[in-house]
Amino acid sequence: MTLLDRAQSHEITREIREAAEAEGIDAERLRRLVASGRVVIPKNVSRSIAPTPVGESVRTKINANIGTSADYQSVSEEIEKASVAIRHGADTVMDLSTGGDLHEVLEKILDASSVPVGTVPIYHAACGRKSEMTSDDLFNAVRRHAKSGVDFMTIHAGVNKEILKHLTAGSRILDVVSRGGALTVAWMITNEAENPFYSEFNYLLEIAREYDVTISLGDGMRPGCIADANDDAMFQEVITLGRLVKQTRAAGVQCMVEGPGHVPVDGIGYGVRAIKHLCDDAPLYLLGPVVTDLAPGYDHITSAIGGAIAGMCGADFLCMVTPAEHLALPTVDDIREGTIVAKIAAHAIDLAKPGVRERALSMDKKMAVARKNLDWDAQFECAIDGARARSIHETRVSSGDTCSMCGELCAIKVAKDALLKQSR
Ligand code: SF4
Repeated sequence: MTLLDRAQSHEITREIREAAEAEGIDAERLRRLVASGRVVIPKNVSRSIAPTPVGESVRTKINANIGTSADYQSVSEEIEKASVAIRHGADTVMDLSTGGDLHEVLEKILDASSVPVGTVPIYHAACGRKSEMTSDDLFNAVRRHAKSGVDFMTIHAGVNKEILKHLTAGSRILDVVSRGGALTVAWMITNEAENPFYSEFNYLLEIAREYDVTISLGDGMRPGCIADANDDAMFQEVITLGRLVKQTRAAGVQCMVEGPGHVPVDGIGYGVRAIKHLCDDAPLYLLGPVVTDLAPGYDHITSAIGGAIAGMCGADFLCMVTPAEHLALPTVDDIREGTIVAKIAAHAIDLAKPGVRERALSMDKKMAVARKNLDWDAQFECAIDGARARSIHETRVSSGDTCSMCGELCAIKVAKDALLKQSR
């Protein structure tokens, strides 16, 4: 039986109990959320990792993307990226490798990761073969990843012939920016055939069920620029994904849904709510929303802005974006920065998220007290990136116990001293 089967049979499994304890949520409540599909706990049957629930009423999670490319293939650097991301708070990592010995990289990342690991199997099937890959190559990649211990997989099953008609009939500037979506479209056009992940979706679910892999339904049609945001092709795919969510759950397999790409701030709310509604409240795994196309070099910030707004509207899982987005394969330092910025956005969401708000608020209160006491060590302890905060503070020191911004005119100190005097 899969975790979903067991939750639906009213069993509070070890994973649910441990996850409930870590999140500070009642175990029976979490079981009900898992049983309904509103929360997923991605964990391959063969892996020993701490359960990481994603969805409603639990802490907002973040994923870090790592992996080689055809141009840069250092396995040791990718392992370092995984550990840096996990050390800085990544709840999951995805191996998106497309260069070198892909299986070697994946095995090593699985060994080095104490958190759930995700992949996009079509990358492995397509590497070096692109549209010459066969339907068997796709399913073999899925099976091999599942057998290796992958906990969740992005599958672009929503890209089908019907969606392709909407794409070609539309007026997008950037046709397809999802790598998996583009490979699927290219394969369908070259082979004049339906997407195998769509036409043989039940076979995919059999494999996922065997290894208890969570399916992340990929958004192959996610818009790649502000001008294309929330368009017909995207929503047609979301409608299809909604049907696949039901099919996935009926097979006893957990699933999430990915979206929504580049979106201006005023389009995020209705976009996210529509995806959640059409996909029966499946956990929403955010790619973006990047809120402007004009900030290459700063897209970790554009997506954190979008992520925070999307989180307020019901999104559950942020995919970290690095400063290298749209420009190059990220370095270890890009991964560190992207992870920290995503973590900030996730915490900002949690401060307003029902079920987790109190816990998040207590962390901010602790920081406020440390600030009031001008207790710098306690402030660095509370900070999301304490090392950076300490290094800035110590670069430009003050002669007193304040910081060098206001020195003796420190508002906190002046007000505190005055109020103390008044109370005597
Ligand atoms: S010196 Fe100014 S910036 Fe620094 S802690 Fe005091 S009020 Fe804040």
